[in-house]
Amino acid sequence: MPQHLIGVDIGGTSVRVAIAPVEDLKSFQKLKQDTAKTDPDGLSRQVIAMIDELVAKQKVAIKDIKAISIATAGPIDAEKGEIFNNANLGFKIIPLKAPILKRFPSIQVNIINDCRSAVLGVHCFEAKPDEKDNMGYVTISTGIGGGFIVNGHLVLGKEGNASEVGHGVIGSKSGVRCNCGAEGCWEAFCSGWSVAKHAVNAIEADPGSGKELLDLVKGDKSRITAKDVYEAARKGDKLAQSIVDQATYYNAIGLGLINNFYDPKVIYIGGSMLKDEQQILPPLRELFEKRTIEFTINHPPLLKKTTLGDEVGLLGALALGKYKIEKNQVISAFK
Ligand SMILES: [Zn+2]
Repeated sequence: MPQHLIGVDIGGTSVRVAIAPVEDLKSFQKLKQDTAKTDPDGLSRQVIAMIDELVAKQKVAIKDIKAISIATAGPIDAEKGEIFNNANLGFKIIPLKAPILKRFPSIQVNIINDCRSAVLGVHCFEAKPDEKDNMGYVTISTGIGGGFIVNGHLVLGKEGNASEVGHGVIGSKSGVRCNCGAEGCWEAFCSGWSVAKHAVNAIEADPGSGKELLDLVKGDKSRITAKDVYEAARKGDKLAQSIVDQATYYNAIGLGLINNFYDPKVIYIGGSMLKDEQQILPPLRELFEKRTIEFTINHPPLLKKTTLGDEVGLLGALALGKYKIEKNQVISAFK
C-alpha cells in the first residue's frame, strides 16, 4: 500500500478532512461537516471520527499514514498544539494535538494556522517556480488573514501566529468595531461582515440613499450582505459603489503594508469576497499602478486570484505533510 497523508482544515463553520497518497496529493478524497462546538474536546473528537470514517472508506491501513496535518483558524499555541482565544470556535482553549496523538500514537501530528497552511498550498500546487521564494497568500472573507514565504522560508513567529494581517490597524477609526474588540483593523474595513455594516451605517446616515441596494433586500437593511453591496454597485447604486471604493482603498493600504514589510513578488488572494473578483482585483491593480507611492515604497507585487478556491487550506495541510517528509527548506522553522 502506498504511503498516505491526512490533511484537516478547521474553520468556524466547517471541518474538512482529506486523505491522499503522498505521490498524488491532488487525488485526495475528503469529508466535510459542520464544526462541532459542543465542548472544548468536541472538535478533536469530531476530527478523530472523521479520520476514522475516511480511513475505513478508503481502506488505508494506519501504518501507511505518515502524517496528520491540521490547518486551523487561530490563534494557535504550536508548542502545546492548542487553539486559544478564537471567538468563532466558542471556547478559550481547544486542545487538538494531544487527543489526536493519543488516538493515533504512531502518526506524526502537525498543527498550523489556516492562512499559513494556505500559502503552503499555493506554494506547492499553484505558484510558478520563479514566484516560490517570495510570495504571499491573503484571504478576504468573513475575516482577513495572510501567510507569507520570505526568502524561501515560511514566516511563523514564536507560536505560529505571524502575519495576522487582518487585525493590523490601518485606520484610526473604521466606524465599526472588529470582532477582536479593536477599531480600525483591516478586517473592520474590508471583510464581508464589515462591508455590509458600512453600507447599513451609510444608509442610516443618509436616509433615502442606497435605493438599488435596499431593493435587493426588499427594504430590510438588516439582510444586507457584502454580496448585495457589490451587486448593487454593479447596478449603478452610488452608495454601494462608495462602500466598494472604500474597501478597495483599504485593501490597497493593507496589501501595501505587506509589500513594505515582506517585499513579495506575488500575492495570491482568496476567500469568499473574491466571488466579486472583477470589482476587487482590477481596481486594486490600478491603484498600485497609478498611485503606487500612496500605498507602498517598494515595487508593487503581482496580485493574482488563487485557483485553489475553498480547498486552499486543506491542500496546504497536505502540502505541509509532504514538506515534512521531504524536509523541505520552506518549512525549516516548523517544529
Ligand atoms: Zn481586529
